[in-house]
Order: sequence, then C-alpha cells, then structure tokens
Amino acid sequence: MSQAEDPLLNAIKEALHTVQDPEIRRPITDLGMVDGINVDADGTANVKVLLTVAGCPLSTTIRSDVEHVLAELDGVNAVNVELGVMTDEQREAMRQSLRGGQPEPEIPFAQPGNLTRVLAIASGKGGVGKSSVTVNLALALAKRGLSVGLLDADIYGHSVPDMLGVPEARPTVIDDMIMPVPALGVSAISMGMLKEDRDQVIAWRGPILDRALTQLLSEVYWGDLDWFLIDLPPGTGDIAMSLGQKLPDADVIVVTTPQPNVADVSERAGTMANMLHQHVLGVVENMSWLETTCQNCGTTQRTELFGSGGGAQTSAKLSERIGREVPLLAQIPMDAAISSGSENGEPIVLSAPDHPSARAITALAEKLATTPRGLAGRSLHLSVG
Ligand code: ADP
Repeated sequence: MSQAEDPLLNAIKEALHTVQDPEIRRPITDLGMVDGINVDADGTANVKVLLTVAGCPLSTTIRSDVEHVLAELDGVNAVNVELGVMTDEQREAMRQSLRGGQPEPEIPFAQPGNLTRVLAIASGKGGVGKSSVTVNLALALAKRGLSVGLLDADIYGHSVPDMLGVPEARPTVIDDMIMPVPALGVSAISMGMLKEDRDQVIAWRGPILDRALTQLLSEVYWGDLDWFLIDLPPGTGDIAMSLGQKLPDADVIVVTTPQPNVADVSERAGTMANMLHQHVLGVVENMSWLETTCQNCGTTQRTELFGSGGGAQTSAKLSERIGREVPLLAQIPMDAAISSGSENGEPIVLSAPDHPSARAITALAEKLATTPRGLAGRSLHLSVG
C-alpha cells in the first residue's frame, strides 16, 4: 500500500488540517508548514512543522496544537513534533498562495511617474521627538495648501493618532478599500489602528509586519497626495528595511538631538536608509535649546539644556559616509507647548504658530516644499553591461 493511501497517514493529514497558524489563521497544511509526516511501527507519529520565521514566539502553541490533535487519533501512540524554519523560497510560495494568485498589490507611491513626494522620518533612538516633528511637519505642509498623507509606522509608539486628536479613530473600510482618517487637514493611518483595541500588545514581526505595511501602503485609498510622510520606528529594524525595499526612492530625514552621544545611532539610521537606496535629505536637530525672553529688556536668551553639536555632528558623519552633503536642515528649540499640544491633540504649528519651535518647523516645511526633488545621490536605475 502506498503511503498516500495509508488510512492513518490520511487521518493525520486531516487532523493537521484543523491546526491553524495562530497569526495567519489558516490551516498549517494550506500554508506549506507541514514538511513531513511518518508513523513508526510502534505508533509514533513524527511530524515536521516549518515555522514562518525563526524564533517564532507562537511555536509552543503550534507544537502543542499538533500534539493535541494527533494524540486523539486511533493508532497514534505517541507524537513527535520537530520544528524547522521555512526557507525564503518556501515563505515566498506561502505569500503567493495567501494572495490566491493575485499579483502583488501595487503601492502607488512606488509606481513610475508617481508625483507624490515620499518622506520617511527616521531616528536612531526613541524619545528624540521624531513623531512630534513628523506630525507638525505634516500639518505645516498641509497649511501651505498641499495634500498630505501620514503613515504612522512606529509600531512601538504609534503616538500619531493621539497627537492628531483622534486617539480612538478607526479607518472606514469601503469594499476592499481602507479610507485614511482625516484629521486636522491631513489623511492619517496608524499601525495602531489595525489593533482591535489600543491597549492590545501585538508582537509584530517578520511576515505579519510586512503584510501590515504592504496593506497600509497599497490598500489604503490615499488619493492624489503631494506629500506622503512616514513616521518610522526608531532604529534600523524590520520596518525600515521593509520600507526601504517597498519605497526605494523615498526621501529620508533623520531626527536627532544636540547630545553628541545620540549622533552615532542617528548616523546609523541614516546610513541604513542610504544603503536601501533611499535619499537622505538631511538632519533635523530637535530640542536644540530653550529660548527665554527677558521680561525687562526683551532680549532672548538661549540655554542649551542638552549640550550642543549633535545635529551638526550627525550631518557631518552622514555626509562623509554617503559621500555628498547631508545638511542640517533645521534646529527646533525646546518648547513645553510641543508636549502639551501633542497631549491635547493640538500640535504646535496650529495651536501656537508664532512660537520659535513652530516657526522652525514651518520653515523646514517651506524649505522642503520649495526644493525640487533633487537627483543628488539618487540611483538612476541604470545598470552597466
Ligand atoms: P519619538 O517619536 O522620537 O519617540 P516624541 O515625538 O514622541 O519622540 O517625543 C518624545 C517626548 O518629547 C514627547 O513627550 C514630546 O511631547 C516631547 N518633545 C518632542 N519635541 C520637543 C521639543 N522640541 N520641546 C519639548 N518637548 C518635546
């Protein structure tokens, strides 16, 4: 009797069909995760299961689900589950089958001739004010009459909905299209909006993270945008890599602080973007100084609370690494109104546009909006030979 006709093997396959990958929520048999089944003479069922990525935190669940369903079968006396990891080819085959033969969804911003300027805002570490800069910059561009989309891809923080005053907003879905949330004159979507509730913690990683990103880029109806801003998570992780591949022509700004010790990690974030063929436009130094005005004489004084030079240092290092000038585009002072504006959903460029910090961000928006997309350092997609 051939193995295919062995009733016990068939029963095992059927049982395995009831085990789902907890994240993808499809049977592991459909996902190509079952790599081998055999039964020893003593009734031990041996199953090899391929995880989608190494170190999958749900491997314990998958293993125990498999053990559980097989142990119930008549003729199975013991279960031995071996866990492996898919190869890149196997993962790609799984992605293809998940798409049901449909072509890869198109990302409008990556199509030739697309006129939207894509700007990713990166930082080496958290807490430097990257999200505050992104949101205020988006609003400052919108104030100039430009249509602006904002993607909050900071999976660790996703503070953008709060800053825009729409903490509980969820996108409307029309047929297959996800509509971005309109807020304060921009269209926004946050990774956080994909969660069922805002306090839910999701171990975003690997293929799931990639799928969520692709979905936000391709299935969201962004319409005709002049600018598309992306608030990246800090550091040089999965998202930055993934976005680098999906949007290889994006411009990138690196946000840092005056502290020289932050310059190293900031430089790394910029270098990474450059390696992924993104165009590092320049550096923004946030929290540069505290500006106070003397009540009596009216003169202003700057106090450098966090030292100085971090922005210039990051700019110099990146220029050296990339081999062209990566300028320091702006220095944004410390301003308590940036924090309170964020907390109240009234970002500073709208609530206190005359503050020096708001003026610095507005000037940055003007600089960006009036500088044509340069070709400096850009890959012209020409290959030799
Ligand atoms: P990141 O996105 O880099 O983690 P955030 O934008 O969330 O940083 O900012 C971190 C904290 O610093 C927030 O409380 C924010 O309100 C505050 N903040 C950001 N920029 C400034 C600034 N220029 N002056 C005062 N507070 C700021």
